[in-house]
Amino acid sequence: MADIVVVGGGLTGLITALTLSHSPFQVAHVQCQQRDGDGETIRTTTISASGKRMLETLGVWQHLTAVPTPIEALKVADGEPSAGSKARRGNAFDLEWQDQDEPMAFVVPNAALLAALERHMRNADVERLTNRTVAGSTIVNKQAELTLVNDKGLIESVICDLVVGCDGPNSLLRKSAGIRQHKLPHRQTAVVALISTEQPHSNAAFQRFLASGPIALMPLANNLMSLVWTLPKQEASRYQACDVNEFNMAITAAIGDELGFLNLQSDRLVWPLKPAFIANPTADNLILAGDAAHVIHPLAGQGYNLALGDAAVLLDILCTASARGLPASHLSVLADYRHKRQFEVGAMSLATTSLNALFTTMPSGIARIAGLGMSLLNRSPAKSVFSAIARGGILAQANLLAGKLPQRDERWR
Ligand SMILES: Cc1cc2nc3c(=O)[nH]c(=O)nc-3n(C[C@H](O)[C@H](O)[C@H](O)COP(=O)(O)OP(=O)(O)OC[C@H]3O[C@@H](n4cnc5c(N)ncnc54)[C@H](O)[C@@H]3O)c2cc1C
Repeated sequence: MADIVVVGGGLTGLITALTLSHSPFQVAHVQCQQRDGDGETIRTTTISASGKRMLETLGVWQHLTAVPTPIEALKVADGEPSAGSKARRGNAFDLEWQDQDEPMAFVVPNAALLAALERHMRNADVERLTNRTVAGSTIVNKQAELTLVNDKGLIESVICDLVVGCDGPNSLLRKSAGIRQHKLPHRQTAVVALISTEQPHSNAAFQRFLASGPIALMPLANNLMSLVWTLPKQEASRYQACDVNEFNMAITAAIGDELGFLNLQSDRLVWPLKPAFIANPTADNLILAGDAAHVIHPLAGQGYNLALGDAAVLLDILCTASARGLPASHLSVLADYRHKRQFEVGAMSLATTSLNALFTTMPSGIARIAGLGMSLLNRSPAKSVFSAIARGGILAQANLLAGKLPQRDERWR
């Protein structure tokens, strides 16, 4: 019987099971059927420098089938670009970070990341319970009891000390534990696609805050870019369905002329955006991680980076607990996780929600003042603080984020 059962076959569940396999506790992993690849070939994830260090240390980064693209510069602007000419002051990419010694982040196709994680899981010290869905969860004699249903409809139960719920934004484990979630209404939808650019992107990422929502372009190999365009939900449906030429003209007009004409190179996917927060990601015998614990607006590309922080911090806490002879579900483990995650998760949730609200729902005068702040920020020392946060490992500190695995104690296992 495993001490810890990690639930969820998404990006968070896989990295959490792999990470915790380096803890002194026995780990099992519950996963529904393999992902059907819906859109994973189109979606990309921006991984911060500290997230990259963690994936490298675990041996996952080396197995990526697509070469990650380093972000060597980040260019941010607000307001509509002025047509035709070089953008006017105030509409140009006022805020710019240039890479100093190492890239602040890397863009990885989701399909390549999932494949590398899956491949690594095959050799990990993790009991795999595949093709199973969690149908219920209770606590019996201070242990968690999960009811699993397999793809043939057969029911089995699994007992463990600690469940780590990585079962996504609609987490059944969160609901079963009665943890309240505060969800913002669905007002915006992200249109996601791959595009090519007329001018070379030179490994720069672009983000423009518009009144309709932020539009971001992240660099990929072969002069492709990954588009995440946030729009009011009805507009997103219209742009998903419209003629390709109209779409190309609309995205080129939205970002400005810095990259020349933009051309759609893939299907267009849509993602309803419903940021959600919970005050406490723990309950008896349960810890939540990834989107089960926090769903943030994708404008900063930080959702999965938070999940990496969740897993790395939890590993350190479990190693300390074991050294003190405590079980994985001990109250001090839950309390430590809650305390160590609340600052980074709270700060990212607040920053992304407020930035989005500032430019989309505030009167244009206030948004303009905020825009002026961007050019001021470009010349202020605070810029290096933001840059450090984007690199990761500042708001959350853990051995893996610094590229270190916990020392194995001879008494383990
Ligand atoms: C448009 C967009 C762009 C983004 N870009 C970035 C980015 O650049 N950088 C970044 O860091 N983040 C980014 N994010 C956020 C990131 O994609 C998410 O944080 C991450 O994918 C969440 O993964 P997850 O595994 O927690 O959740 P999910 O992907 O939702 O996975 C949940 C898993 O749990 C399984 N599951 C659910 N219920 C059960 C059950 N009862 N039993 C068993 N299994 C179950 C599901 O099958 C699924 O496999 C972006 C998000 C969006 C929407």
